[in-house]
Amino acid sequence: TIPFIGPETFEREVGRVFKARVGANESAFGISPKARQAMVDAVDSVGWYNDPENYDLRLALAQQYNVSVDEVGVAGGIDDLLGLVVRAFLEPGQVTVASAGSYLTYHYHIAGFDAVSHTVPYRNDRNDLDALIDAVHKTGSRLVYLSTPDNPTGTWHTAAEQQTFIDALPENCICILDEAYFEFAPEDAVLPIHPHDPRVIRMRTFSKAHGMAGARVGYAIAHPEIVTSFDKIRLHFNVNRIAQIGALASLGDQVFIRWVVDQVRAGRAEYETLGCDLDLPTLPSATNFVAFDCGTPERAQHIHDALIERSVFVRKPAVPPLDRLVRVTVGAPEERAVFAEVLREVC
Ligand SMILES: *Cc1c(COP(=O)(O)O)cnc(C)c1O
Repeated sequence: TIPFIGPETFEREVGRVFKARVGANESAFGISPKARQAMVDAVDSVGWYNDPENYDLRLALAQQYNVSVDEVGVAGGIDDLLGLVVRAFLEPGQVTVASAGSYLTYHYHIAGFDAVSHTVPYRNDRNDLDALIDAVHKTGSRLVYLSTPDNPTGTWHTAAEQQTFIDALPENCICILDEAYFEFAPEDAVLPIHPHDPRVIRMRTFSKAHGMAGARVGYAIAHPEIVTSFDKIRLHFNVNRIAQIGALASLGDQVFIRWVVDQVRAGRAEYETLGCDLDLPTLPSATNFVAFDCGTPERAQHIHDALIERSVFVRKPAVPPLDRLVRVTVGAPEERAVFAEVLREVC
């Protein structure tokens, strides 16, 4: 099972670099200048081991969300956290529920730890919350995964819908709420942190709005017992020193994050207009990417391949009914111009 083929792999294969790197939902808008300076300064102390408790960052997160430090777990991105959850809660052969075509790394860990993935199809390009609940009840699953705002569609559920979903879960089922894109979501689409249901694990990351994907920092807000269960199995030096320090500084620069969110909103609007022009309608998105609807899987594959051929890195979901989509990250203005030009040519 391969969770993700990096753009570098393509580049090595074809022997040239991408002109626009808009396939992995990386931020095109850099990092906070405060985070940058903090990381530059931190280089001088990289000879020291990092704090294995990630304490300063956890404390800052706890203060930001008004929870206690022992309700915050930090790891090497959400990808790392997903592995910890699967390993902590699933025995080999046990079933977990998610949408078919949802975030691949989760399914990668399920395969890696020999658990079983029970999937339900998307409906109208959104996670089908009713079907997910039904599947949890039918399979007796102890774990269900939901990302909102969602990857790869960009669609989202309101906080009220999320709450109804959680309320409908059996007592002994834990919900992984993957909120990698929460910064980009409308206000009414972010579930309040309080009151915190012990069955819900909120997962967030510095990879998207904070622009620190390569630094690998993510965090979970969860019941202290769950955080403790992660501590038992995670690598104790799981987040490197420079990343911890950079994330802490970035967390303190919300002005920068608001600026990124504004830039992304403008870029999404541009993609929407482009999609309209080219008869590739875009899905509504509350993320830093936009899914273009190519109508059929064949057309999506052609457009995807032609873009890659012309050195524009994008991705295409593989699982129906999402396989008619091509997913494009909101790039910087120059990248968007390159993408638009090449897409017009391809169409
Ligand atoms: C990007 C993404 C992640 C990965 O986050 P990391 O913190 O970089 O591991 C997790 N979940 C979803 C839905 C994503 O799109």
